[in-house]
Amino acid sequence: QAKSMGRGDYQFYNSEMNASTLHRLTLESGLRHAVERDELQLTYQPQVELVSGRIVGVEVLLRWHPEQQRLVMPDVFIPIAEETGLIVPIGEWVLRTACSQLVAWRQAGLPDVRIAVNLSARQFRQPGLDDMVSRVLADTGCHAGCLELEITETVLMERPDSAAQALQRLSDMGVRLAIDDFGTGYSSLSYLKRFPIHALKIDRSFVRDIPYDADDAAIAGAVVAVAHSMGLSVVAEGVETLAQCEFLRGLHCDHAQGYYFSQPLNAAALASLLRDGLVTGAQIGAA
Ligand code: C2E
Ligand code: MG
Ligand code: MG
Ligand code: MG
Repeated sequence: QAKSMGRGDYQFYNSEMNASTLHRLTLESGLRHAVERDELQLTYQPQVELVSGRIVGVEVLLRWHPEQQRLVMPDVFIPIAEETGLIVPIGEWVLRTACSQLVAWRQAGLPDVRIAVNLSARQFRQPGLDDMVSRVLADTGCHAGCLELEITETVLMERPDSAAQALQRLSDMGVRLAIDDFGTGYSSLSYLKRFPIHALKIDRSFVRDIPYDADDAAIAGAVVAVAHSMGLSVVAEGVETLAQCEFLRGLHCDHAQGYYFSQPLNAAALASLLRDGLVTGAQIGAA
């Protein structure tokens, strides 16, 4: 790699700058232009109501497809977007695109669903987040109650007081709030009470080995019980098998998403699933 760089660049190539640093810099400069070059795409993963098998929501998952290169997954580029602050304009693009898509589905006569959009730490702490969200809702004509924002518990626990205020402003607008990857961060259940949240998402690390792993089964059951006792609904992430699905239904877990029901899909594929109303896996499971 050093060889392919011009002479003038050589001074930068020292032990600090290894291949992965270069790779990162390449990603970073590419990401700066990703929105304007139209390289970002949204995928949509159905969230299924376990008792009925109906699709009640879709989680919006971002993909980056740089020209002439392989698809880049969010675990790779979101941290870079976060560190550089690019997540702020990118996140606004995600929200705007997702809200427009939801309105388009509704106008096409498809059954109503909610959209769940992920917010990173930087976005959540950005001053004026609530103004941005309400502007996007107004511009797109998306109803606030159709939008759910997902925030991880670590982000909330770092500065609980300002987090509670930020959540309250969003909640007052009618937006729903979900705690993502629940159980993986430092979680004090007493804090949960202070946050105006609507749903918990059980992290997929606890879903993977249920029903066979007794500890994970107990954790999943405890999360559902705590959530319900606080009036929150529960979404299980990463559901891949019928056995997991059945077990979660037995716990009275409200919703589930995962490859068992569907991979994240492009807008057209998701629209045809919505038109059918049910996902195949859920129908089998609910029989
Ligand atoms: P997340 O919000 O916890 O999203 C769930 C991840 O699990 C997604 O990965 C999804 O594709 C994957 N997944 C869904 N079902 C299954 C399953 O059955 N098995 C397994 N093994 N995985 C499953 P993805 O799309 O790679 O996204 C990774 C993370 O990147 C997300 O985790 C979220 O934290 C972040 N992210 C994605 N899109 C956005 C975005 O638009 N904005 C922000 N700020 N973060 C995003
Ligand atoms: Mg999420
Ligand atoms: Mg998650
Ligand atoms: Mg995650």
